[in-house]
Amino acid sequence: MDKLVNRLKTLYELQQIDDQLDELEELRGDLPNAVQALRDKIDGIKEQVSEKQAKRKESLEKREENEEEVEKFKANQKKFKAQLYQVRNNKEYDALTKEIDHTEEQMTKLETENDALADQSKNLAEDIESLEPQLAELNEELKVKEADLKEIIKANEKEEAKLRSQRKEIEAETKKPDYSAYMRIRRAKKGKAVATIKRSACSGCHNIVPSQRQLEIRRNNRLFFCEYCGRILVSPEIAELTEE
Ligand SMILES: [Zn+2]
Repeated sequence: MDKLVNRLKTLYELQQIDDQLDELEELRGDLPNAVQALRDKIDGIKEQVSEKQAKRKESLEKREENEEEVEKFKANQKKFKAQLYQVRNNKEYDALTKEIDHTEEQMTKLETENDALADQSKNLAEDIESLEPQLAELNEELKVKEADLKEIIKANEKEEAKLRSQRKEIEAETKKPDYSAYMRIRRAKKGKAVATIKRSACSGCHNIVPSQRQLEIRRNNRLFFCEYCGRILVSPEIAELTEE
């Protein structure tokens, strides 16, 4: 068989296989996207939960730290107050009361901060608690959708594997530039890169192919592209040869 006929035949075969693979893909419908969207949503919520947990932990640690600090101040306060009985003059008395006031202020500040931290921690705990049922619900939904998808995939597993291995062989036989052109047109034309001529029209876009052009295409001596849709046009003979 001459080389170009082979090239055209290979491209037509590739299209046939891809058509069948696309059909299998279509059977899955929106499920793969739905599964992915659910996974993303779940990841997002999990991230929120762990962020809130980390914040809560930080808040609890800060509170403990503050409490320890308050205990230290309390001990100092006790010491200062005891010293008040031993002062010898006004200057010493003033210095000591100033110290006591200052310690009091700091303790109040820490206690106020701890009240705010306790509120924050409570809010965070509530947030986490409200996210958990959402997460459980989404996980349940995901499980159902994944099972549906798995069932569809499994039903066509053998056929798909066979088609994929056939495709691999054909891809290896296809010339690199032909393959890139095929893939480029396939992406632009919703999967259909190769068309043939049916009742004098391009089978891809149904525009009439001029009879002179039809004759040229029938010679199978170069690649032709439909002048309307840009698809690779092969002669009906090539199509028949492939379908045999
Ligand atoms: Zn066309």
